Amino acid sequence: MEKKYLVILGAAFASILFISFIYLEKDADQEVRTPLVMTQIPLWCFEKNTDYLWESTVTIGCINEAQSLGATRIPIPTGEVFELNPLVKTRFLAAEAQAKLEGFKIEITSGFRSEARQLFLFNQAIKKYKTTEEASKWVLPPSISHHPKGIALDVNYPTGPTGAKWLEINGYKFGLCRVYENEWWHFEPLVAPGELCPELIINALAAIN
Ligand SMILES: [Zn+2]
Repeated sequence: MEKKYLVILGAAFASILFISFIYLEKDADQEVRTPLVMTQIPLWCFEKNTDYLWESTVTIGCINEAQSLGATRIPIPTGEVFELNPLVKTRFLAAEAQAKLEGFKIEITSGFRSEARQLFLFNQAIKKYKTTEEASKWVLPPSISHHPKGIALDVNYPTGPTGAKWLEINGYKFGLCRVYENEWWHFEPLVAPGELCPELIINALAAIN
């Protein structure tokens, strides 16, 4: 009799182990199949008429008259460009409105430049700095500069750095970054709005080497 009970007990124990194993397997399976919760990528929207800046998501987009600041860094365009990138302009207008609220004035003193204009400035810099290498630390040749690509802004130059300093500190919220250690006035859309800007590069020449 005792032996029979032992067999029954043994069989019951084995069944429990087997069932647990199946459930564990099932759990592991479910873990893999559970869909990931999609992160809502933030998107900033700016209403030019009211200077109102509000947060949406990429999925929802900007509604009514609001213009998107874009949700990524703005890439260097490959084709020919004739004006300041509209997204860069919207980012600047949003930053300008916020700066104004905080008592700072920022203005674009040079944004888009034609290649001819950039070449003129580059040649002037060569005269001033004597060598193309030294000149390139301040003005890049037209084929490399981001001004003829419509994605670079000189802000408050040569008036003074106060407003530009505000933009240096707050620009990342709008996706605008100061780029060079030697140019407090030069900004580019290097990040998505809200992402932190990269470290400053010593000068424009170092950026291309
Ligand atoms: Zn510049």
